[in-house]
Amino acid sequence: MKPPAPYNEPVRGYAPGTPERESLSRRLDQMAAEVVEIPMVIGGEDRRTGSTFPAVMPHDHAHVLGTVHQGGEAEMADAVEAAERARPEWSSAPWEDRAAVFLRAADLLAGSWRDTVNAATMLGQSKTAQQAEIDAACELCDFLRFNVDYMLRIYEEQPLSPPGAWNRMDYRPLEGFVLAVTPFNFTSIAGNLPSSAALMGNTVVWKPSQTAALSAHHLMRMLRAAGLPDGVINLVQGDPASMVASALADHRLAGVHFTGSTTVFRGIWRQVGEQIDRYRNYPRLVGETGGKDFILAHASAEVPALATAILRGSFEYQGQKCSAASRVYVPRSLWPELRERLGDEVPGIAMGDVRDFSNFMGAVIDRRSFERQRAAIEEARGDGYEVLAGGGTDDSRGWFVRPTVIVAQDPDARLLRDELFGPVVTIHVYADGGFEDAVELVDRTSPYGLTGGVFATDREAIRLAENRLRYSAGNFYINDKPTGAVVGQQPFGGARASGTDDKAGSLWNLTRWVSPRAIKETFDPPREYRHPYQG
Ligand code: NAD
Repeated sequence: MKPPAPYNEPVRGYAPGTPERESLSRRLDQMAAEVVEIPMVIGGEDRRTGSTFPAVMPHDHAHVLGTVHQGGEAEMADAVEAAERARPEWSSAPWEDRAAVFLRAADLLAGSWRDTVNAATMLGQSKTAQQAEIDAACELCDFLRFNVDYMLRIYEEQPLSPPGAWNRMDYRPLEGFVLAVTPFNFTSIAGNLPSSAALMGNTVVWKPSQTAALSAHHLMRMLRAAGLPDGVINLVQGDPASMVASALADHRLAGVHFTGSTTVFRGIWRQVGEQIDRYRNYPRLVGETGGKDFILAHASAEVPALATAILRGSFEYQGQKCSAASRVYVPRSLWPELRERLGDEVPGIAMGDVRDFSNFMGAVIDRRSFERQRAAIEEARGDGYEVLAGGGTDDSRGWFVRPTVIVAQDPDARLLRDELFGPVVTIHVYADGGFEDAVELVDRTSPYGLTGGVFATDREAIRLAENRLRYSAGNFYINDKPTGAVVGQQPFGGARASGTDDKAGSLWNLTRWVSPRAIKETFDPPREYRHPYQG
């Protein structure tokens, strides 16, 4: 049996006057006018606890979109039991049945659910229409469709069978439940982490980010509409540290599929390590974490392309992409022109409520992020830095931080090293002729290794950067911004402090959710124990 071939979901433009814009605007108005009740979903049943927190709009934080019911240890224990109850049937279901659920989900998302999931992402996570479209609609459709193809490529990988025997690999789902812990910044990742493990036959407990509760709620409804059986994915909400800790304490934990910050993932790894004697299996730990992603310009770079990469790569979705460019290295010879371009463009970047389609940026996700950006900008007003553009902050209505360009004299400055996860980019100008030293700087300055790009027209410079920066980025770009990886085209993930580099949306990731069994069947077994040489 062959499922439909995967393809990248075409990105809609939402230009003025188009039917897609009208339809999305209508859905935005409807969803902004209601306050939905957001239950957990355990064993296929809605679970309300009465203990709630609000889901708000980051760009209008007094506006409540939903009331989220949260659980504690008891709900987490129920979710684990529900996943375990569903496991025997789901793990032995034919792959066609599992694939059909997620392929149907992809088509629902591309069609009748598109506006709802996009609008939830815009309102709840402050993405513009374009940023929601490439994430919540297109990338998630791509994950759902391409993963089916990757699953079959894994299944096709079979050992040699010489005459007289049939050797085969049985790609068993893991023996236990998978815990998916997902970040706020990509609805596609929130959907992919539980569904990729489930596609491979696992049952899952899913704990989404508290600041993406609205889109998680609609994704869960959509998966159920696609026919996902009860208990295969169980959605829980609540205090992250205690809920995750109670799942990690269960001896049936078979894997953790995590995306989020480095600190949290290290905490999860540590807890698993400390409890290693308790588990039935060694839990698979897959984590995609933080980044301090670079753009390195060579003297031969084209400045307009470089400036555009910085503007888009650093400021789209308010710099809240793990892949966002947040440190830039430029030779002195190019600096006057680049400085002028950024100085001209940045103040004009439109920012505001994402329902106004003329905006390029919305607000940062929450008060904590707002304060982190504000503190960094304050720091940059001190010695050793210059705030070249932006720097304004305003939390009166939403958590707004103007796109900000900082220049750091010291190549080891904190703002060139630490992830800020906001619309703040720091530039270091290096001496002409110092490209090789700049390459070394890029490699050693930050503990991360997620994404990065080199801008140059000189082939030797490109070759040098590509070779020397081999471990500095898991996704390396040449004359392109370091964001915007597409499923099936640039498998995504990095190493060092950026994660386990299992490449989301690829067969390398899916191999982590199976435990292969090798089977040998002998057709005509020997019936004599003595060997011929003994004759
Ligand atoms: P986060 O680490 O704050 O949260 C991620 C998830 O972990 C959420 O579900 C959260 O509720 C949970 N969590 C928070 N504290 C926890 C704790 N103490 N114990 C257990 N779980 C806990 O991250 P975020 O703010 O949602 O996302 C931003 C981070 O994610 C950035 O560092 C970014 O670089 C990273 N990220 C990485 C990738 C990638 O592919 N490498 C993709 C997206 C985001």
